[in-house]
Amino acid sequence: MNLQHERVVVCGAGGFIGGHLVKYLALQGVQVIRAVDVKVKCDWYQEHQLPGLENMVADLKELRNCRRAVSGATVVFNLAADMGGMGFIENNKALCMLSVLIGTHMLMASKDAGVKRFFFSSSACVYNAEKQKRPEVVALREEDAYPALPEDGYGWEKLFTERMCRHFEEDFGLECRVARYHNVYGPLGTWEGGREKAPAAICRKAIEAKHSGNHAIKVWGDGNQTRSFMYIDDCLKGTQMIAESDIHEPLNLGSSELVTINQLVDIVEEIAGIRLRRTYQLDAPRGVNGRNSDNTKILELLGWQPSIRLREGLMKTYRWIEREMLADKRVLAAASI
Ligand code: NAD
Repeated sequence: MNLQHERVVVCGAGGFIGGHLVKYLALQGVQVIRAVDVKVKCDWYQEHQLPGLENMVADLKELRNCRRAVSGATVVFNLAADMGGMGFIENNKALCMLSVLIGTHMLMASKDAGVKRFFFSSSACVYNAEKQKRPEVVALREEDAYPALPEDGYGWEKLFTERMCRHFEEDFGLECRVARYHNVYGPLGTWEGGREKAPAAICRKAIEAKHSGNHAIKVWGDGNQTRSFMYIDDCLKGTQMIAESDIHEPLNLGSSELVTINQLVDIVEEIAGIRLRRTYQLDAPRGVNGRNSDNTKILELLGWQPSIRLREGLMKTYRWIEREMLADKRVLAAASI
């Protein structure tokens, strides 16, 4: 499939990845007819004004809103979900699971509207927890999602919706494509408020430390947890490739550059040009001990591999968050108390 011949709807477009995706697709010459999100428009990270694009505010937990959202579309990207970083998903399992209403109703509406292709943004949180107990991880391959023992709440919802995609395709002929995103970061995303993820949270803490002169920061866990982080530009390219591909099975979409949280802090320290005094919060939400993405399959099938090193992506993210914080003097004033 070539998306340039399709009419595309992006759901979750007021969010981080969705907001970037609308712009990215439009720049590729794809006709994005609708961008949908539940948030009021002033809270969208990006609201694009493009010819033929309708920016719609709608709660996609409601089937009737899903029908309005997909009307006239041939391809649907469903990125809408109630989600956040580890601090959010560990404390809001029911809310995360309620995103199943979005997935279910979006699939039903897309099937009924004769949509040709449905993209679903799944997550590395679907992987079996038993395989992620040690920081020195073996990278996760797609088959490691089964036998199922995903992240409680959020991961179960993602795995269930993946299965629904599979069966909507098998039983109803709605072509589905699924990407398992591994920690996506970059500018124009959440960096405060409780839903932010580790890269943005650490950048924010380092910026607060730098501008307040108090160089003490709190790190969640013991700092030895390992993760990989994918810069948004790599995510967008991979998302388009998966959506256009003939691959029916879920595919990993993530970086394989594994770092400990301490190493992530080291890089941010260098960017900020300060040394931070770290205290470790062992009772804070920390997620699995180790997780990395095995990209063998997507490299083999689609030739995709991440191209942006963590340091480069973090530099751009840090600069953007710093600009946001400097523009919002209230935040820095609070940090300097
Ligand atoms: P985000 O929170 O910035 O964006 C999600 C958007 O969905 C939000 O703007 C939110 O308002 C919207 N939404 C929530 N409930 C809705 C509803 N009922 N109706 C309409 N819109 C609703 O998150 P993101 O980082 O951009 O993630 C996008 C997708 O990718 C999500 O499905 C997420 O689970 C998945 N994902 C993201 C990451 C990551 O690291 N960012 C990793 C794995 C998977």
